[in-house]
Amino acid sequence: MRGDPEAHELIAPRTLTGVLSLLASEPGQWTPIAGGTELMVAFAAGRLTARKLVNLWGVPDLRFIRTEPDRIVIGAGSTFRDLRKDPTVSAEFPLIAKAASWIGSIANQSRATLGGNLVNGSPAADSSPALLAYDAQAELVSVRGSRIVPYTQFHTGYKRTVLAMDELLYAVHLPRRFAQHRHYLRKVGTRRAMAISKTGLAGCALIEQGVVREIRIGAASIAAFPTRLYLAENAVCDRSVTPETIRDARSAALTEIVPIDDIRSTAEYRRIVTLNLLREFLCTLSSASGER
Ligand SMILES: Cc1cc2nc3c(=O)[nH]c(=O)nc-3n(C[C@H](O)[C@H](O)[C@H](O)COP(=O)(O)OP(=O)(O)OC[C@H]3O[C@@H](n4cnc5c(N)ncnc54)[C@H](O)[C@@H]3O)c2cc1C
Repeated sequence: MRGDPEAHELIAPRTLTGVLSLLASEPGQWTPIAGGTELMVAFAAGRLTARKLVNLWGVPDLRFIRTEPDRIVIGAGSTFRDLRKDPTVSAEFPLIAKAASWIGSIANQSRATLGGNLVNGSPAADSSPALLAYDAQAELVSVRGSRIVPYTQFHTGYKRTVLAMDELLYAVHLPRRFAQHRHYLRKVGTRRAMAISKTGLAGCALIEQGVVREIRIGAASIAAFPTRLYLAENAVCDRSVTPETIRDARSAALTEIVPIDDIRSTAEYRRIVTLNLLREFLCTLSSASGER
């Protein structure tokens, strides 16, 4: 049954300071709402348990993309449309621009925020594998100040994060050092558009003189939250990409992934497809490293 608007209270402070003061005044009582593309679906289905909502939409301090000499900083309130349009994101972080173009529809991309995608914490979130591949950091803020955590440590369990009850996700930081890297992203869903992914994989690797010097692989739906394939990365690092390397990486990945099993797909399908995506990514590197 649809939610009842009278059962909910919504405050829109319009400034970051106002939002943080409200969160600090009653920790855990106020739930941020940004684009609302997750929360309003829950409301429409009568599943929205949060009674007190604080509106982040229209808070200018959260919606920015700032290019600095060594990094870009993306405000949590940036929409996926903002990300698609930003020239630095497109040129230097193509996996993020590509993931943004896959999220829902154009209408959805104009409301859905990066912060909402990450804090919602779905194992299938489309922006997460790319952020893992690019070694992202999350900046959290409260009235007590701000702190930075590696994005690899942001999720602590299924739909759980390190955010304290009075904290917001403020921004995502990405180092600007991937110009020479190879980039790979695939989303596997029921359709090419308007489908939550069954699984997805993002990779970023640096090849020097035929050898993989640096590699990060982020994947969706292979654990309770988006995560890196550390063992597969280790199996490839400091080696050239031969069929043997690929075999070793796939064997390593098999031991570290525990795919989710839900209405969209089975764990077994996700396991097989993730390993296939890993092979596809590594094959793109083998041509870069001169191997066939
Ligand atoms: C039709 C449709 C299609 C979709 N397709 C996709 C898809 O293809 N891929 C995909 O990944 N997702 C998809 N989604 C899910 C959704 O659009 C995304 O997860 C979106 O990024 C959520 O952002 P939002 O701003 O709308 O979040 P909201 O609904 O506003 O909030 C989501 C959660 O994040 C919290 N939150 C938001 N911002 C902050 C912040 N700065 N700090 C702390 N907490 C915060 C809220 O409290 C809430 O718990 C789809 C949704 C719909 C309705």
